[in-house]
Amino acid sequence: MELATPHRKDLSMYRDILYKEFQEDRCFYCGKKLTNNIHVDHFIPWTFVKNDNLWNFVLSCPRCNLRKSNSLVSHDYIIKIEHRNELIIGTSTENIIRNEFNGYYNGLLERMWRYAKMSGIRERVGIAEAPVK
Ligand SMILES: [Zn+2]
Repeated sequence: MELATPHRKDLSMYRDILYKEFQEDRCFYCGKKLTNNIHVDHFIPWTFVKNDNLWNFVLSCPRCNLRKSNSLVSHDYIIKIEHRNELIIGTSTENIIRNEFNGYYNGLLERMWRYAKMSGIRERVGIAEAPVK
């Protein structure tokens, strides 16, 4: 009965758009050069947004993605993803990409981050740093 609930779909299209079209070749969180194992991460966790939109996707190394899991990252990253989204909006002429940004505005991610936090999604601090022993 898995059709009854929203489910995660194949995100490789988003990986291709960000990696090939927008040359995002470094992990959004730690800045390391991405190799052939590239993870597509929901910046605001999927468990909260239940939606797949380009403005909420970043590319990440497996390590950061697994450490982040279904949590929020520190507030500082919001500025970074907003800049990234402005860049995409400013440079893309493709309808398929523009459509991804329907309903998006500067400040939306900030609001969602706060709502997610209020609803109990935990914040994972220091995702890109060395693990604590
Ligand atoms: Zn990383």
